[in-house]
Amino acid sequence: MAEDIKDWYEPKLQVVEFFRSIDGEVNGFAGPGQPSFFIRLAGCNLKREFGSFCGYCDTAGAQDENTGRTMGLSEIVTHAERGGLQKITVTGGEPLYQFEEVRTLVNTLAQLGYLVTVETNGTVGIPREWLENDRVRIIADYKLRSSGVDCRSLTERVLESLRPCDVTKFILMHPNDLFEVAFYIYDHNPKAQLYVSPVSGKLLPEELELLIESIASIPALKNRVSLNFQLHKLLGIK
Ligand code: SF4
Repeated sequence: MAEDIKDWYEPKLQVVEFFRSIDGEVNGFAGPGQPSFFIRLAGCNLKREFGSFCGYCDTAGAQDENTGRTMGLSEIVTHAERGGLQKITVTGGEPLYQFEEVRTLVNTLAQLGYLVTVETNGTVGIPREWLENDRVRIIADYKLRSSGVDCRSLTERVLESLRPCDVTKFILMHPNDLFEVAFYIYDHNPKAQLYVSPVSGKLLPEELELLIESIASIPALKNRVSLNFQLHKLLGIK
């Protein structure tokens, strides 16, 4: 009977995978290289809400909300405990696709003393209590035009809620994308830390040089924006 009640009340999440690795990207805590236990959740809202997925998506296997396995909150927490690390990264797909369930998961993990980074695509409102919890950091994308997804007006409202300890990440397909980043910063003066992240392997060395030179000279970017690379991809690890 007790099990039946637990089944009834316990939030269930669709989980693609767990793994231990390093955070390959900026994470709001110690940064790239910090060992972390990853929880990858299923589902992404972009195609349903905005007509397409990101052209550069590297987690296409997590876009479908039915992929992976349905797991109860306590089973997920048990996996996290077995991971043996204080740092946890909740990613996707889009983790906030399972809004109420992931909200409970992150609140539970933070309450248990874990440091939790949530990687989100910036199109779903961030739960208020996460923004009041020092153990939770948000890494939110700003989808530029080159992503193939037009969600900017919604994203701009979501990003307004971020704190100075959170991060906004702009994924670049081309150095020219920086002008769109500059206009956003100029118009919105965001509080969060700002990183531009070239799609892995996409830019030529001379384009990277141009990118760095542009960051150092465009007034809205200078002393405000840093480069972010996917360290795990450079190392050839998960
Ligand atoms: S938001 Fe993330 S999971 Fe969804 S299409 Fe874009 S990169 Fe892929």
